[in-house]
Amino acid sequence: MGKFGSRSIAFRPKASASSARHPPTKYWNGPFRFFDLPPELRDHILKLILLDWDSTSKDAVHLFLTNKRIYTEAASIFYYEVLLDNMHLKGTADPFLAGSLTAVTPRLHVRNLIIRFLMKEQMYLFGEVYGTALQEMASRGKLQSLRLEIGSRFPCYEFWGYEDELFVYDNIRVVAEKWKGMVISAPLFVTKEPFQNFLKFLEESKIPKIRLFVDAEDHSKFWCMFHRPHPSGKKCEGEWRGNAKVLKIQWSSLVKALKGAKAVAPVQKDC
Ligand SMILES: [Zn+2]
Repeated sequence: MGKFGSRSIAFRPKASASSARHPPTKYWNGPFRFFDLPPELRDHILKLILLDWDSTSKDAVHLFLTNKRIYTEAASIFYYEVLLDNMHLKGTADPFLAGSLTAVTPRLHVRNLIIRFLMKEQMYLFGEVYGTALQEMASRGKLQSLRLEIGSRFPCYEFWGYEDELFVYDNIRVVAEKWKGMVISAPLFVTKEPFQNFLKFLEESKIPKIRLFVDAEDHSKFWCMFHRPHPSGKKCEGEWRGNAKVLKIQWSSLVKALKGAKAVAPVQKDC
């Protein structure tokens, strides 16, 4: 006797000639048409491929290269939220925000963007390449929300002076209407182009929602004037007592107070 397996194959009934000639018509047996699926199903399938930990980056690359329409749908999922942690970059722009736009530039698909950057080294980019890229992402792309984190933990030593001329801690005359003529203590840096252009970027931006944070460790008299108060309502008087790692800055007050701010001249120095 032959083996059970081969016997079972041998005795398997053959498809009848008639059913071979007339396949059931209720099933579509042409090519699988992905775009005939409803959008929510396509979305679900693309998420399984792109966001599943088991997928390899090759799966994503193949998907992106399929065609333009799939690229667009996949990119909206893949780039929905992007974090650019640029704490390691010194004076250079992140490649993600640099370079000219094409129809498949990834940054056009970003909806929520978070940028962590160093104040001293990178703030100037908002008056240049970042400013342009971010406005395009809002006007031509999908950018809805921008979260900026000045995460420099700029040591007081560096930020407040001694090291170079720009960062000398000085008396600055604020320009906000409600504080007219008031003099505050701030680094001279806030009167200089990189900081001033950053304020201009915030003010003129078309991005629907911008939030600005500073590292709570960088708390100082200067940021104290502009951060959101502690939920308890207690004044922190220059020393942040909350647990939050970052402090939310009320950037519209920052812009009003410091746009066009000048150092009080002549600078009085004690001998
Ligand atoms: Zn404070």
